Amino acid sequence: MTRSSKPTWQKELALERVNRLFELAEEARIEKTGMENRYVELARQMAMHYKVGMPRELRTRFCRSCGSYLSPGSTSTVRTRAAKRAVVIKCNKCGNIMRFPYGKRVN
Ligand SMILES: [Zn+2]
Repeated sequence: MTRSSKPTWQKELALERVNRLFELAEEARIEKTGMENRYVELARQMAMHYKVGMPRELRTRFCRSCGSYLSPGSTSTVRTRAAKRAVVIKCNKCGNIMRFPYGKRVN
């Protein structure tokens, strides 16, 4: 183990917090508190700091370009491209388009 890697229990805790922050972001969006992007920022910092990586299901929940919290049908548009076996997610704030191939390993 290198000095920079964090203990497993810390990583598990970090992942729990990352998930919780996205729950808070969703609540913030519903309640229109304007805090959702801040929660996304915190979640991304948490994932980076503990080197846990963003869980696959959460990678579709924020814009990689502008950092906005993305909620399908609200702040993002989700389309599937069967031919390319990919989910295409568009950020409605900055117009950034992200592609997520599916049919691969999920988590
Ligand atoms: Zn964006």
